[in-house]
Amino acid sequence: MNPLPASPEQVEYVPDEQAVGDLAARFAASVQAPVAIYLRGDLGAGKTTFARAFIHALGYPGYVKSPSYGLLETYQAGDSNILHLDLYRIEDPEELEFLALRDLFNDQSVLLVEWPDRGEHYLPEADLVLDFDENHETRFIRCRFFTPQGKTLWDKVFGAS
Ligand code: ADP
Ligand code: MG
Repeated sequence: MNPLPASPEQVEYVPDEQAVGDLAARFAASVQAPVAIYLRGDLGAGKTTFARAFIHALGYPGYVKSPSYGLLETYQAGDSNILHLDLYRIEDPEELEFLALRDLFNDQSVLLVEWPDRGEHYLPEADLVLDFDENHETRFIRCRFFTPQGKTLWDKVFGAS
C-alpha cells in the first residue's frame, strides 16, 4: 500500500474526544460514497471513537457499538450504506469472504475498517488511511489518501494544496 506519488500527509492533533468528533464531522460533511477508510492504530487509540462520531455526523441517530465481536455493523443514513468493520478478532482474512463483503460494498457504501491489516487482500482498497497514534501522550491522527477519490475528499477536508 503506497501513497500516490504526490500524497502529502496531514497530521491532526486530537487532545480530547471532542477534537476527534470535530475531525470526523469534517470528513462526514464532504464524503461521497463509495469510499473505503482504513482506521489504523493500537487498541484504545481512538478508532471506534472516530467511527462513532463519523457515523453520527452522517446522520445516523442511534447507538453505534464497537463491532469487535460481530466483525461488522451496518447502518443506513440518508443514501449512505455504512459498513463498520473491526477485524481485531478475525482469525483468517477469509472470514471476510463469509461475510460477503464484496457483495455488501457497492456504490452507496461508506466503509470504515478498524485493524485493516488483518483483512489484507479481502478488503476494497483504501481511499484514505487514518493512523491513530500518540507522541509524548499527545494524541494525533495522520491522514493520507491513496486514490483519486481519497484525494478529492482529503482536499475538501484540508484544503487543496
Ligand atoms: P480503539 O477503537 O482504537 O480501540 P476507542 O475509540 O475505543 O479506541 O477509544 C478508547 C478510549 O480512548 C475511549 O475511552 C475513548 O473515549 C478514549 N479516546 C479516544 N480518542 C481520544 C482522544 N483523542 N483523547 C482522549 N481520549 C480519547
Ligand atoms: Mg475499536
